[in-house]
Amino acid sequence: MNAVIFPREVYAAIRAHGEETYPHECCGALLGRIVDGVWNVVESVKAGNTRTDSAHNRYQIAPIELVKMEREARQKELDIAGFYHSHPDHPAQWSQTDFAEAHWLGCCYVITEVAQGKAAVTNSFLLAGASEEDKRFEMQAIEVQEER
Ligand SMILES: [Zn+2]
Repeated sequence: MNAVIFPREVYAAIRAHGEETYPHECCGALLGRIVDGVWNVVESVKAGNTRTDSAHNRYQIAPIELVKMEREARQKELDIAGFYHSHPDHPAQWSQTDFAEAHWLGCCYVITEVAQGKAAVTNSFLLAGASEEDKRFEMQAIEVQEER
């Protein structure tokens, strides 16, 4: 099954990040490992939202910030498992902009709806496909695990 696994505290942290930045979007990266073809998220890394033009409906991680995140992941022997962002007062469904700006094939794109300042639905989409030309988002089941 297409799924992504989150530790409870990481899942809570990305939802809390969306509440913190409301009414603006938050964004960040997810670090983890693939185990038997399933992403096991280990931690999340907050990013500053660099899109000041319309931070409520678009997001972007600055390239230099992304390079730092990749280095941090490598040092911890983790990989970039995906990215997350929030949709303030908007459903947790990907937009055309989200799709156009998604380039990490095989990674998870997590979206949390923040309704009136409170985190609501969180969905995850796997960017499937073998190339940029046939990429597509596939909805994933989110499994939240209690702390070991
Ligand atoms: Zn979005």
